[in-house]
Amino acid sequence: MSKLMVSVSGVRGIVGEGLTPEVVTNFAQAFGTYAKGGKVVVGRDSRVSGEMFKSAVFTGLMAVGCDILDIGVCPTPTTQLAVETLAANGGLMITASHNPIMWNGLKLIGPDGLFLDAEQGQEVISIAERKSFTFAAWDKIGIAVGYSKAIEEHLEAILDLEYIDLDKIKGRRFKVVLDCVCGAGSNMVPHLLNKLGCEVIPLNCEPTGLFPRNPEPLPENLTELCEAVKNENADIGIAVDPDSDRLALVSEKGEPLGEEKTLALAVKFMLSKKTGSVVINASTSRVTEDIAESGGSTVIRTKVGEIHVAKKMREIGAVIGGEGNGGVILPDIHLGRDAPVGIALVLQQLAEFTGTVSELNDTLPNYVITKEKVELHDLEPKAALEKIQEAYSNDKLDFTDGVKIVRDKSWVHIRASNTEPIIRVIAEAPRKEESQQLCAEVKDCIAN
Ligand code: MG
Repeated sequence: MSKLMVSVSGVRGIVGEGLTPEVVTNFAQAFGTYAKGGKVVVGRDSRVSGEMFKSAVFTGLMAVGCDILDIGVCPTPTTQLAVETLAANGGLMITASHNPIMWNGLKLIGPDGLFLDAEQGQEVISIAERKSFTFAAWDKIGIAVGYSKAIEEHLEAILDLEYIDLDKIKGRRFKVVLDCVCGAGSNMVPHLLNKLGCEVIPLNCEPTGLFPRNPEPLPENLTELCEAVKNENADIGIAVDPDSDRLALVSEKGEPLGEEKTLALAVKFMLSKKTGSVVINASTSRVTEDIAESGGSTVIRTKVGEIHVAKKMREIGAVIGGEGNGGVILPDIHLGRDAPVGIALVLQQLAEFTGTVSELNDTLPNYVITKEKVELHDLEPKAALEKIQEAYSNDKLDFTDGVKIVRDKSWVHIRASNTEPIIRVIAEAPRKEESQQLCAEVKDCIAN
C-alpha cells in the first residue's frame, strides 16, 4: 500500500513513512496560503501522532500568517461546524478517519464548513507542490489560541433541533453500549447520550488513540460491542469511527444493522418530519432510495465523497442526505457527515416508534450489500474500469462515478478509492448470494 495518499480531499499517510512533519507542515503552509491568512480552526482526532502533527500544522499555518483557533481533540463534524460558527477562513482536521492506527492525515475545510471540492483541493495541492507559500514577515506571523467550547456548541446545536424531544427520549431511559474505539468521539458522544438521559455503558471511550481493534465501524470489527449489548441487555449498541463522522448501530439482539441502515433510518425519520429531496451517493443502498420514494421524495445520486453529496444538498435544498457508510448529513445543523447528529435522530425515532431496534430495522426493505476491495498492484484504476465497461457493455451502465452496472433489483458499483490504492467493488441485491456473486464476477473480470 502506498505510504502517502494525496487527494483533493486532503492527505493521508502512514506516520513516519509517507506522512512526516515536513509533509504536514507543507500542506498547512499551502492551505494557509490558499486561505489568504485570517483565522483557521484546527481540530484533531485522538491518534497518538496527533499532538506531533498539531505542532507541524501550527508551524505551517503561523508561518503564512494564519491565526489558529485550537479546538483540541474533537470529531471532524465539530471542526466543520466550528469553522462556520466562528466565521473562520477555513479549518484543518488532523485525522486519518477510519484508517488504522499507524495512519494520520489532514482533511481540508473551506470557510463554509464544507470540505474543499476538487478544484479548491487541487489549488492547495498545486501550492504545496510548487512550494509557492506566502510566508509572513516576523511581525505578521500568526498566533494560536485555544477555544474550548466547540464540542459544547455542537452538542447544543443538536439538542436544539426542533424535532428532538428531550423529554420523550429521556422517558425511554435507553440503555446504550457505546464504542468510540478510543477515538475523538470519546470526548463528545458520552456527553450527548447523558444529556439524552441514556444509561451509558462505555466501551473504548477513553480518547487515547490506542485503537483496540480495526477502527472502521464495519460489522466484522464490532464483535466486542455486539457481545456487550447482549450481555448487558442493552437497547442499542452504537459505534463511531475515530473522527466520529460515521455511525453504525447494533440491535438489542447484538446484531449489527450494517452502516447502510444508519442512513436509511435517519432518512425515514426526517421524512416523517419534513418534505423535500434526499441526496445520496452512487454506492448507497436502494433501501434509502425505496424509503425516500415511498414517502414521495425525490432522490438524487452523486459521486462518492462527502463534498459531492454536500454540494448537491446545498444546491437543491435537500432535507437530508449522506453516504451509506454510516454518514448522515443534516443541513439543519451543517453540511457534513455527523455521527452525533445521526445518534440523536435515531434515538428520537426509536422513542417515537416505541418498539425495539430490531423491530424498527424490520420496517426497512431488505437488500444485501457486499463490499469488496481489489488491490491493484500494477494495474491502473482507469484500465481496470475500462475492462469492466467492455465486459459489461450489454448492461445498463452509469458513469456518475466510476462504472455502475444497474439491473432491475440489483447493481454493482466499481470505482477507484479516493483514499487508498484500491478499487472498490460494491454490489447490492435482494439476496446475499446474488450480491456476493455479482462482486465475485466483477473481481474476476478485473483480475483476468
Ligand atoms: Mg471518519
